[in-house]
Amino acid sequence: MIAAVKPVRSLAAAGLLTVALSALGAAPARALDVKSLTPAIVAEVNADYPRMEALYKDLHSHPELGFQETRTAAKLAAEMRALGFTVTEGVGRTGVVAIYHNGPGPMVLVRTELDALPMKERTGLAYASEAKAVWHGHETYVTHSCGHDSHMAIWTGTARALLSLKAKWSGTLMFIGQPAEEGEGGARAMLADGLYTRFGGKPAYAFALHVGSGPAGEITYRAGPVTSAADSLTITFYGRGAHGSMPNQSIDPVLMAARFVEDVQSVISREKDPFAFGVVTIGAIQSGSAGNIIPDVAELKGTVRSYDPVVRERLLDGVRRTALGVAAMAGAPAPKVELGDGAWPVINDDALEGRTATALKAAFGERAHESAQPWTASEDFSEFVRAGVPGTYLSLGGLDPVLLAADKARGEPPPTNHSPFFAPLPEPTIKTGVEAMVLTVMNVMPPSGR
Ligand SMILES: [Zn+2]
Ligand SMILES: [Zn+2]
Repeated sequence: MIAAVKPVRSLAAAGLLTVALSALGAAPARALDVKSLTPAIVAEVNADYPRMEALYKDLHSHPELGFQETRTAAKLAAEMRALGFTVTEGVGRTGVVAIYHNGPGPMVLVRTELDALPMKERTGLAYASEAKAVWHGHETYVTHSCGHDSHMAIWTGTARALLSLKAKWSGTLMFIGQPAEEGEGGARAMLADGLYTRFGGKPAYAFALHVGSGPAGEITYRAGPVTSAADSLTITFYGRGAHGSMPNQSIDPVLMAARFVEDVQSVISREKDPFAFGVVTIGAIQSGSAGNIIPDVAELKGTVRSYDPVVRERLLDGVRRTALGVAAMAGAPAPKVELGDGAWPVINDDALEGRTATALKAAFGERAHESAQPWTASEDFSEFVRAGVPGTYLSLGGLDPVLLAADKARGEPPPTNHSPFFAPLPEPTIKTGVEAMVLTVMNVMPPSGR
C-alpha cells in the first residue's frame, strides 16, 4: 500500500481510490462513535425485524437458480424503490443495482447474492423449499442452502436502517443484488455490463458478508485472504461401448472415471507442499444407463481450490496429467479436459479490515472476533475487489447455539453451507448482520454536512 495524506474526496475524484484507503487506514478522518450510535441502530433493526423475517421466509420458500432469479430480483428492486433508491434491473442479466445519493462523500458498494442451489432441502422447516427448476438441462429441486436468502434480508434491512439514520452520514450507497454467485460468474457478468461505469464510477469501498456454521449472533473478520481460489474442472473420458458380458470389446469409461477419482488425490497427497492449502473435489460423475451396458463416455465435474497461485498451477497441471495418464493406461483417446478460470480468492484490504474490525469490536464485544483461518470455500465477490476497489468481507455465524452444542456433544460436525440441513436461525443472524453492515458502512462515511 502506498502511504498517502491527501483528503479522501479529492483522491476519489482523481480515481486514486486504493490510495485513498491507505489514507483512511493510516489516519482515520474521524472515529465512529460506536457506543452512542449502536442503540439507534439496534432500535431501527428491532423495528424492521418483522418485515425482514417475512421477506427472508418468502425468499427461502421461493429460491431461484443462477441467472433465473427474476422473482427474487423484482422483490428486491421493489423494496429498494420504496425506500427511494434509483433502481436498475437486468444488470448482468438478472442483477439489481440500487443507488442512493445522500450528499458528498464516498460511494460504498454493499453486495448480496440472489441465487440458490440445485439440491433438495431436508431441514424440515415450516418454510422449507419445494421449488424445482431446470438446471443445465435437468430438472432439480432448488434450495437456499448457502444462506443467500438471509443476506438479502440483511441487505434490505441495512439499506432501510441507513436511510433512517441518513442525518448522521454523507455519501452514496451502491447496493447491488448479484446473480449467479454459485460458480456461474454473476459478478463478472455485472462488471461486464457496466457496474463500474454506468452508475457513477467505481465505488470507494466494497462490502459483503456471508453466513456460515458458527453460532448465530457472532461476527468474524480477517485481514488478507478470506476465501480460496476455485477452478472448476470437467473431464470427459471417451471409451468404446459394448455388451456388459464382453468387456474385451470395450474401452470402459466407468473404470477410467473411477481410476481418475482415486489417482487425482495423489496430486494433493504427493505433489502439493503439505503446508500449503489445496483441495480437489470430484462432485459429480455421469455415465451409463443400465447395468449390462458398458457405456462409451463418462463425464466428471469437480473443483480445484487453493490460496497460492503457484499451488494452483501445480494442482491444475496435476489434474490434467492424471486425466491424460488414465486414458493412456486404458488405450483410450485423449480425454477432454476443461479447467475453468474460476473465482479468485477474496483478499480483504488490511487497512479497511482493521478499521472495520475496530468498529465491530466496539459494538459487539466478545461476539466479534478475528477468524483464525480463511474459509476454504470461494466466492466471486473477489471480482468486485480485484477491479481495484478495497473491500472487506465478513463472516456471520448462523446456527442455533443449542443445536451446535448438541452436535458437539454427539461428536458430529454441524451442517455447513450447501448441506441439505443448513438452517440459519433467522432472528439473531439477520439482526447481527444488519447491525454489523450498518456500522461498517457508516464507518467509512463522513458525518452529514461535513
Ligand atoms: Zn454457496
Ligand atoms: Zn454463498
